Amino acid sequence: MKVDYIIVGSGLAGILFCEVLRQHGKSFVVIDDNSQQSSVVAGGLYNPVILKRFSEVWMAKAQLELALPMYHAIEKDLDVTLDYKTPIHRLFASIEEQNNWFTACDKPNLAPFLSTNILPNTNTAIACNHGFGKVLQTGRIHTAQLVASYRTWLEEQNSFLEESFDYNALTLGDTLRYKKHEADQIVFAEGFGISRNPFFKDLPLKPTKGELLTIHAPDLKIDYILKSSVFLMPLGNDKYLVGATYEWKDMSNTTTAKAKENLLTKLKSFLTCDFTVVDQVAGVRPTVKDRRPMVGRHSEYNNMYVLNGLGTRGVMIAPYVAHELYNFIEKQQALNPEIDISRFN
Ligand SMILES: Cc1cc2nc3c(=O)[nH]c(=O)nc-3n(C[C@H](O)[C@H](O)[C@H](O)COP(=O)(O)OP(=O)(O)OC[C@H]3O[C@@H](n4cnc5c(N)ncnc54)[C@H](O)[C@@H]3O)c2cc1C
Repeated sequence: MKVDYIIVGSGLAGILFCEVLRQHGKSFVVIDDNSQQSSVVAGGLYNPVILKRFSEVWMAKAQLELALPMYHAIEKDLDVTLDYKTPIHRLFASIEEQNNWFTACDKPNLAPFLSTNILPNTNTAIACNHGFGKVLQTGRIHTAQLVASYRTWLEEQNSFLEESFDYNALTLGDTLRYKKHEADQIVFAEGFGISRNPFFKDLPLKPTKGELLTIHAPDLKIDYILKSSVFLMPLGNDKYLVGATYEWKDMSNTTTAKAKENLLTKLKSFLTCDFTVVDQVAGVRPTVKDRRPMVGRHSEYNNMYVLNGLGTRGVMIAPYVAHELYNFIEKQQALNPEIDISRFN
């Protein structure tokens, strides 16, 4: 079977790259072994503002303009709902934070994303004396739904292999051979799985494990995403996602009592109503030391590529890096130097 591309990994990176290929009429086969969970467990939040410092996320405007139409196209083609547009309310802990918010509102790059009104807190389930600032153009992509629906679609096209990619079974050359498949190009999009990849394992990934809780809080009744020391995201039916943690030593997908405790302590600092924990998940984010994605061609093999390093904001970044890689391979357009793996040479 001959295809244009073999793609290893069907998380956000692999899926969004498939989407770009699909838009251009290219053929592909995707291989995944379910070893990584990042895209399945992710909160899926897209938010153009860093709410700790009130600064703009790297290339936020350009990323959002590209990302949302792509997710909407997938929604239409696969007949699923992925984009839950929801404002974020940033809880102010002090008057000083309110003042910093107004300073941020005056900045031209942030003005489109920040409301200048301070919203008073009227909800007795939330401890908040200084009100909220509302972030605009935000929401949640249901990434677990995206991964599941996309995989079903790939299976229907006979374009999906559920197995661990066997690096020894890849024969290199102008035409690549992998078992019964032949391809012109191969793209590795394995997230933290890159640590097992002999071709790209030396790239400086600095992975970060994250955990999330789902709580049931029938008295909370909020329809916005609340950001305080943790995020609280409405999922419907009085359930909310609480997250996330950051851990640099344990790189398993196993949930821990320590992370649960950490999240509950932070949650209880502003949530005053009763709730129960109904779920806990964990995954490893493919984060990079310089906080930029890792995209590019292998230094020796000119039809082998990497698409990784999506970090903590894969929802917004994946469509952008997928386009960059496609244009690099098919149109010989230079990659943005900030994402090009040649920066590590
Ligand atoms: C707790 C948590 C919360 C998060 N919240 C958000 C959020 O709110 N918003 C946001 O934008 N981002 C969030 N992220 C980050 C986001 O999840 C990541 O940036 C993104 O999912 C990375 O996608 P990826 O495709 O690069 O990697 P992955 O999702 O890890 O996908 C890699 C895929 O490759 C497969 N694979 C790996 N090795 C092999 C192999 N050898 N053979 C076959 N298959 C292989 C894996 O099984 C996996 O399916 C969160 C992450 C975590 C962990």
